[in-house]
Amino acid sequence: SFPPDVVPQAPEDPLFGLMAAYRADPFDKKVDLGIGAYRDNDAKPWVLPVVKKILRNDPALNHEYLPISGLESFTSAAAKLILGADSPALLEKRAHSIQTISGTGAVHLGALFLKRFYPGQPSVYFSSPTWANHNQIFSNIGIPIQTYPYFSKATKGLDFDGMKQAIAAAPDRSIILLHACAHNPTGVDPTQDQWRELAALLKQKSHFPFFDCAYQGFASGDLARDAWAIRYFVSQGFELCIAQSFAKNFGLYGERAGAFHFVTGPSPDAAKTISRIGSQLQQLQRSEISNPPAYGARIASLILNDATLFAEWEANLREMSGRIISMRQALRARLEELGTPGTWNHITDQIGMFSFTGLSETQVRELRDVAHVYMTKNGRISMAGLNTHNLEYFARAVDRVVR
Ligand code: PLP
Repeated sequence: SFPPDVVPQAPEDPLFGLMAAYRADPFDKKVDLGIGAYRDNDAKPWVLPVVKKILRNDPALNHEYLPISGLESFTSAAAKLILGADSPALLEKRAHSIQTISGTGAVHLGALFLKRFYPGQPSVYFSSPTWANHNQIFSNIGIPIQTYPYFSKATKGLDFDGMKQAIAAAPDRSIILLHACAHNPTGVDPTQDQWRELAALLKQKSHFPFFDCAYQGFASGDLARDAWAIRYFVSQGFELCIAQSFAKNFGLYGERAGAFHFVTGPSPDAAKTISRIGSQLQQLQRSEISNPPAYGARIASLILNDATLFAEWEANLREMSGRIISMRQALRARLEELGTPGTWNHITDQIGMFSFTGLSETQVRELRDVAHVYMTKNGRISMAGLNTHNLEYFARAVDRVVR
């Protein structure tokens, strides 16, 4: 009853396929620059020291269900972390926060809510390119997808004019998906002045900003700086939503700790509006996952709500972001010393987990076939996969394929 024309074979997920190929490769100098997960200088997953400490002290509570909205001490701390403790949205009680299955679940819940309730069946606008899963999540839910230019191949930086033109040309009240910081896959973020311009433009068009924030604190090492764009938009009175992931910044990838926040604009009815919105989010959550997973949220909550642990976490964040930034500097310097054709300033101009190298699909293929270097075919590398042991090998391999 399910013949191939009814249920065709789905394509393998490109990223997870890449990981499998890397694991199967017996070559001793192979390099994994695919998956967006932090690795230490020995290419090993890193359990944050502050998280390890919590695990030792974990009183092993019990395994009861969390409430539908998740762990309250976690969601309230998550809201403060992203919006700022003094956010007008929190002081005026016009934000609703709900725990989700990490960032992916938050994007999904937000999309589901907008599909059901956003008037006028608008399209969502993604940066071109964007995190591949955005396309799948929104198309599964049935929200039409459009794109705005983002990455300039010429400068390997932001195509700001193209971005603004597309956002200005979109029908009023469109949904505009924005990466809060450390854009995936390009590593290119707007400057604060550019964010101000974007906010003015979105306001003028009555667009709805949907922020995806998967790298707070991981990008610059500074939690407030990485949340700046979101806080600025909130200060401008926007109604908006935020998908927040704790996968990267706590190293809790598989524990699926995240939150979805909806902020309604300032108005005399804001408290009632947010209460209605919150009730619908809870109902959607109940039918989707019943209630979210407890383990990762408990760990994050303990750290977020304790000043000493919080400070240790910030130090851990600076260690991760600092190592990545130093790898950016080292890679750029080495390619420049080798005289590798092209310009390499974009490696240090870009920020966060990824760098969009500008390598072509053919060059990526050659790197894999000849040098056992694994990266996505769009030329993106996970900077965390580089370390002091493999940087020279990788730089020389790039030099070879570019010449
Ligand atoms: N959004 C972006 C832009 C991402 O890069 C990621 C992870 O790679 C996510 C969301 C969600 O990740 P997770 O579901 O693991 O929190």
